[in-house]
Amino acid sequence: MKWQWADIDTETTKAPRTRARRDVIVTALVVLIGCVAVLSDPDRAFEWLAGHKEVQIDEFLTAIVIIGAGFAVFSWRRWTDLSRQVDEYKRLQGELSAVNREASLMSETDDLLQSCLSSEEAYRIIIRHLEMQFASMSGSVIAILEAGDTAQIVASWGEPAVRQDHFAIKDCWGLRRGRVNVSLASDSRVACAHIGPTIPTYSICVPMMAQGETLGILYLDTGPEQTASKVKPLTEAQERTVKTLTEHLALAVANLNLRESLRKQAIRDPLTGLFNRRYMEESLEREFRRASRRESPLAILMIDIDHFKRLNDSFGHEAGDAVLRELAKVFQAQLRAEDIASRYGGEEFVLILPESDMAAASECADRLQQAVHAMQIQHYGRTLEGISLSIGLTCFPQQGKTVDSLMRTADAALYRAKENGRDRVEIA
Ligand code: GH3
Ligand code: MG
Ligand code: MG
Repeated sequence: MKWQWADIDTETTKAPRTRARRDVIVTALVVLIGCVAVLSDPDRAFEWLAGHKEVQIDEFLTAIVIIGAGFAVFSWRRWTDLSRQVDEYKRLQGELSAVNREASLMSETDDLLQSCLSSEEAYRIIIRHLEMQFASMSGSVIAILEAGDTAQIVASWGEPAVRQDHFAIKDCWGLRRGRVNVSLASDSRVACAHIGPTIPTYSICVPMMAQGETLGILYLDTGPEQTASKVKPLTEAQERTVKTLTEHLALAVANLNLRESLRKQAIRDPLTGLFNRRYMEESLEREFRRASRRESPLAILMIDIDHFKRLNDSFGHEAGDAVLRELAKVFQAQLRAEDIASRYGGEEFVLILPESDMAAASECADRLQQAVHAMQIQHYGRTLEGISLSIGLTCFPQQGKTVDSLMRTADAALYRAKENGRDRVEIA
């Protein structure tokens, strides 16, 4: 906002007060001179009054007109001062309520940002704020993708002049320099390459940076050139608002990313990316309760890689790790989104298949074995193959009516698969 407290002092209070003080001083001086004249020589003053007893009527009127004119000038000056003050107060009131509106919108946005559970929610909240405050403009939140060399539009309002949903980071001066970049149609030579096809009269790219990382940009423009004449570019104060919003968004997104990576660390196995044992145990309790309530089946596959120690001994521990990673990929490719694949420990895995009966789970186990037989892993010029799995299969409610009994029967089935020569599926 343009006004400052200094303006209030000069425009609304100081100048009228000075003028009023001047009027009072002049009046006081006139009265003082009169009093001094009367008091310094009262005889002469009374003589003068006695000599002017027969004042002519027109002289009396002239005196009244002069005094009246004096009053009129005095009142007019007061009236103009007052109306100027009223106008000034109105202007300030307008600006103050705009500032208040903006402040409450900002605090609401901050509140919402802090309650966000995903970056997508945070992007939408910022877009909502910008749309409310800069309705005549268009814009986008553009996030840098994980690979790190491409940016992608993740939320927009209006019709932002951005050529494509994806663009290379080098196409944005703002991202390249890590600083706010303003592109103008009047000087298109330094406009960002991602802007177009028509370059808007005014556009701004504000980098989103937090915790030493660049997360993307907030992009705003005045729309296509033909309508741009109606749209004023951002004032300094508005530019400040956009920068503040960008900072708040960047901080919120960085915190959400951090939270997400901590959450992943807490529930995922770092080598395979599968869920860890703790998460599997929690999930099994939950899925078991759901299956009991709905009276639906629930299958568990307990899996162990055959002769994995031998593979480690022949090809090295790193080769063993590569096999574990590839196996995790096979599981993820073969299972449904609602299935839970976890690394139970070492070279053992537990797969939970909600709403799968024995037939479906057995079919799934066969598919897994075929996929693992077909696995050929290239490791430092050598091919790792011939990998096989022993699988113990159990199913709720037939093979077990509690989580413990299900795990026990699955383990027993796996043991039997090993005993019976490995590379097979045994049903509990
Ligand atoms: P079996 O067919 O009876 O299951 O034989 P096995 O050799 O697979 O079983 P054993 O329990 O004797 O050996 C398991 C091996 O798995 C021993 C251990 O070195 C290896 N292992 C466990 N965790 C890891 C890991 O994270 N990476 C690698 N490379 N090997 C692992
Ligand atoms: Mg084992
Ligand atoms: Mg084994």
